[in-house]
Amino acid sequence: MADLQPVRGTRDIIGEDHRRHSYVIDTARRIAASYGFDEWSTPVFEDTRVFSRTLGETSDVVTKEMYTFEDRGGDSLTLRPEGTAGVCRALVTNGLTQSLPQKIFYAGPMFRYERPQKGRYRQFHQIGLELIGPSEPLADAEVIACGWDILVALGVAANTVLEINTLGDRESRDAYREALVEYLSAHRDKLSAESLSRLERNPMRILDSKDEGDRRIVAGAPTIMPFLTEQAATFYAGLKRHLTQFGVPFTENPRIVRGLDYYGHTAFEFVTKALGAQGTVLAGGRYDGLVAEMGGPPTPAVGWAAGIERLSMLLDQAPAAPPSIAVIPIGDEAEAAAIGLLQSLRGAGIRAEVSYRGNLKRRLERANRMGAKSAILLGADDIAAGIVQVKDLATGAQVAVPLAEVASRLT
Ligand code: ATP
Ligand code: MG
Repeated sequence: MADLQPVRGTRDIIGEDHRRHSYVIDTARRIAASYGFDEWSTPVFEDTRVFSRTLGETSDVVTKEMYTFEDRGGDSLTLRPEGTAGVCRALVTNGLTQSLPQKIFYAGPMFRYERPQKGRYRQFHQIGLELIGPSEPLADAEVIACGWDILVALGVAANTVLEINTLGDRESRDAYREALVEYLSAHRDKLSAESLSRLERNPMRILDSKDEGDRRIVAGAPTIMPFLTEQAATFYAGLKRHLTQFGVPFTENPRIVRGLDYYGHTAFEFVTKALGAQGTVLAGGRYDGLVAEMGGPPTPAVGWAAGIERLSMLLDQAPAAPPSIAVIPIGDEAEAAAIGLLQSLRGAGIRAEVSYRGNLKRRLERANRMGAKSAILLGADDIAAGIVQVKDLATGAQVAVPLAEVASRLT
């Protein structure tokens, strides 16, 4: 079976990698809970329309990246490329649109048909937050502050910069789009083919282009700021004031737009230079139109998602494997006592493992290899005397301990 490889763009998460992965999720879950977020898990696949309707027919995700297939019943299903659409679908189908605010944390796999490279996979994993209900900029600041606190707790905040922008309200955006199209049209001969195709359908995405030539044109493009309605400008000022009150450092970047079409007002990204081209680790914004697209009432909302693989790569070091105790019965007569001891250690919350076979030397070697900090040796004579030998595997020191006291000595 050696010819069977994992599918391109997927990877096994094992060993140290998995400890990083779990550490990111556990840390985020704990901090999100302290902000009052509850965890939801929605299905990994949904009716294709959950994504095609809401992510915008012109977004990269919908046009190029979705894993869409027909199931045996003939329904078109899609492996979720992101978490927000499913959470909003769940809000509507669970009848929660009148029970606001809802504060949701999630973690799980996402799927996008992309060109695999460092920090970019076809199955990847995200943690994310959605704060559904409030329309105040305090809500935007709070979800950003929670993201910041998670990055701080993971020890990666110093490696990232928070960049924020406003996409304004509909009126600001319409006025801006017109000015932007006018400017870009004057330079259409220098735009990449991809950007040209976006010029009519989704011109703001051109601001976000990675193409060098596009970037030079974009550098001279008008920003949205002078086109903001008074309301949109007030909202943005409120966001910046609250971020400062939360103590979250940020810079403004008028080029930030979100890849998905349902965003307005706040857009933000935590970016790092440490991961090469895949520099965005956590990104989000306000998406007041999405719940209505899903068939619910107009409902304000703001949230973000972060790539667990990218966060894991930024972690300074992997969390250590939990230390283990090796229990080594010497001879068949010692087995019953060994099993009794294992179960009482495990019951006391100690990670205890038995070595299954081999002579004492081999078993000690194996205990060392599995990183055990001590080994408990059970010989028939000792057991008859009610004691065991506890061997410190780092120093080799060995002491006799009454069997009944082992668990309490080790905690
Ligand atoms: P990018 O510009 O890198 O393609 P994106 O705008 O498509 O990112 P979002 O949809 O905002 O990304 O997803 C939020 C986060 O999820 C990203 O900032 C990144 O950390 C992570 N992410 C997105 N796509 C992938 C992928 N294919 N592999 C690994 N992580 C990803
Ligand atoms: Mg992408």
